[in-house]
Amino acid sequence: MAIRLVTTADSLRAQSRLLLTQKNGSSLGLVPTMGALHAGHGRLARAAAEQNDVVVASIFVNPLQFGEAQDLDRYPRTLEADVALLEEQGVDLVFAPSVEEMYPGGQPMVRITSGPLGEKWEGASRPGHFDGALTVVAKLLHLGIPGTGLPGGRAFVAGSGGGLPAYRAYFGQKDAQQLALVRRMVADLNFPVEIVAVPTARDADGLALSSRNRFLSGEEREAALVLSRALRLIEERANANEPLDVGSARALIESQPLVRLDYLDVVDPVALEPLAENCHETPFRGEGLALVAAKVGAVRLIDNVPLSS
Ligand code: AMP
Repeated sequence: MAIRLVTTADSLRAQSRLLLTQKNGSSLGLVPTMGALHAGHGRLARAAAEQNDVVVASIFVNPLQFGEAQDLDRYPRTLEADVALLEEQGVDLVFAPSVEEMYPGGQPMVRITSGPLGEKWEGASRPGHFDGALTVVAKLLHLGIPGTGLPGGRAFVAGSGGGLPAYRAYFGQKDAQQLALVRRMVADLNFPVEIVAVPTARDADGLALSSRNRFLSGEEREAALVLSRALRLIEERANANEPLDVGSARALIESQPLVRLDYLDVVDPVALEPLAENCHETPFRGEGLALVAAKVGAVRLIDNVPLSS
């Protein structure tokens, strides 16, 4: 079945309902994106297609989460190629609304507040970013709920087994703080959706795929490899139950003149609070997340690696 593209919330509901009926489907996967898609997004779409009968991907560059209008204007828009990539991965329906469709009458008055979890790490250098991101994710998660929005507010029962379709939404581990915040929002506010995390897709040399990588010069791209190398050092030590020696990983990044380190730290994967210093000096045990952010030339990059031993 050819992929379908819709731009309004009404047509999203109508088409997803139709697809569930046509496929006699009992599950729907939603993949929220901002477009400019690469193989990392493709991996999210593929996971959703493997686990669900119907897959919806959204493409929306959300003005609420950009600090500077300039960044928003500069964000790459590649709709045609995006739709082709999504189709290849088995997506059924693309929702690509306009700003007016998402925010009729201007910016929303009531928003999601990301709280202390949204103020640290990336939030510290991008004030308001996670409030804006969670607000649009909340809207998209609601718009994507399968089997709702029938005239008269009647519930829709898909599939032969009865009951509402299963509903899953897919987020990349690449944006670890966003993922932690989305999980927290869904738990705190009882959203009827299961959040599925998808591992970070990397180029063969280790660089995490990002729509920002296209802004790196050849030399900067080479320099940026130091971020994944530093994370790998920490990961290897965690796997070997050694002290993590975050200091030497930081020093590795700081030795690269084109890279300006913002933070490199090891945190717990839920609250993203730094783990006790002792894991820096004593053998690492348990669960953690090594987070890094740096500017490479003018491009801010983030990466992370989950730790477990
Ligand atoms: P974005 O369009 O950049 O907002 O990203 C949309 C989704 O794709 C988010 O859930 C990201 O975490 C995820 N994503 C972005 N880059 C990668 C990657 N390299 N590997 C896995 N997921 C990614």
